[in-house]
Amino acid sequence: MTRKRAPEPYRNSIEAPVYQSASYYFDDADQVKAGLHDLTLPAGRYGRYSNPTWLEVEGMLSELSGADSSLLFASGMAAHFTTFVSLLKAGDEVVLPAESYRQVRNVFHHVLPKFGVIVHEISIRDPDAFLAGLAALAGRLRLVHLEMPSSPHMYLIDVARVREIVGPEVVITLDSSFSPPPNFHALRWGVDLALFSATKYLGGHGDIVCGVASGRRDLIEQIRWYRDTTGPVPDGNTAFLLRRSLYTLPLRMAQVNAQGLEVARFLDGHRSVRRVYYTGLESHPHFKLGQAYLAGHGGVVTFELGRGEAATAEIVDRLAIPFMASNFGAPHTLVEQSTFFTYFEYDDDALRGIGVDRSTIRLALGYVNETAQVIDDLAKALA
Ligand code: PLP
Repeated sequence: MTRKRAPEPYRNSIEAPVYQSASYYFDDADQVKAGLHDLTLPAGRYGRYSNPTWLEVEGMLSELSGADSSLLFASGMAAHFTTFVSLLKAGDEVVLPAESYRQVRNVFHHVLPKFGVIVHEISIRDPDAFLAGLAALAGRLRLVHLEMPSSPHMYLIDVARVREIVGPEVVITLDSSFSPPPNFHALRWGVDLALFSATKYLGGHGDIVCGVASGRRDLIEQIRWYRDTTGPVPDGNTAFLLRRSLYTLPLRMAQVNAQGLEVARFLDGHRSVRRVYYTGLESHPHFKLGQAYLAGHGGVVTFELGRGEAATAEIVDRLAIPFMASNFGAPHTLVEQSTFFTYFEYDDDALRGIGVDRSTIRLALGYVNETAQVIDDLAKALA
């Protein structure tokens, strides 16, 4: 076995290779100084700090979001947690929507307060009440975390007004997992950092767990120090799969946007359905915000039957096409009865607090099933 691997035999491959190296070598002491100490020589150092495949994808993600810079993480939660831990300190006050993703709420309620962060939660169901609550806290806040559309009701936020209210100094983060570009460009509306679970639409094949933070260079550099130090990083192969997926993101989003609207319209007109939550329907309470902010409404359609939990489960059990599973953005259509999946630990009071009914069903449309098949399957189950 030779001590060092030979230089790359050629460098004209159209697609980037997958790098799976835990470490990187230097030729001599001068290179160590330039590459490791002064960072004047762009070079690999160690697998927790960087990897050429990540760099390639991070560049593509910055272009996608119009960001200065981007970072990859081992999961969407790792992107969220590392961002908050990097930017917050004891005594800082933050706001988040009451309808945020359950585990993000857990970070805000059960982890950050242990380190002295003061957390305010406000519902976004009534957009004006949310803005009024924010205005009452303005001047005290260090960070506002947003998520839109929210799950399961697909509520939206007047993001530009949030920036006006809190002023330029407050950091705004936004979980855009449900609405990646081209559906929504968070950074165009005064958001500093767009956060993504790349496990969802960005990855788009149901085969990776990955996260992304994209935005202002100074903030990304702060977060990078924490990522380098604490290590919530993906491997080269995950980065490779994400890079390949990004080529088809606009095509996949166009497909689920079209199918989402058709399925939502079908459900909206069905006599067994009490209510549909889809921001592309005029009946959605935040339809106007959707028209202002979203170029497409995605593949997640939520509806209530207005029956009991068991009767709802019988109908969900009858569906033949969707897998009964909790995710979205995957090729296959998935279905979850909200109180059996995401909110199974919530009691009636907690469910009332977030407005989730026991007959709530969340359908996450994929792109391998024909729209007519999905509608036919729903029609049979609801008959
Ligand atoms: N944000 C949203 C809106 C999510 O739905 C999820 C996961 O379901 C996450 C963040 C966390 O992402 P991950 O599962 O990649 O850690």
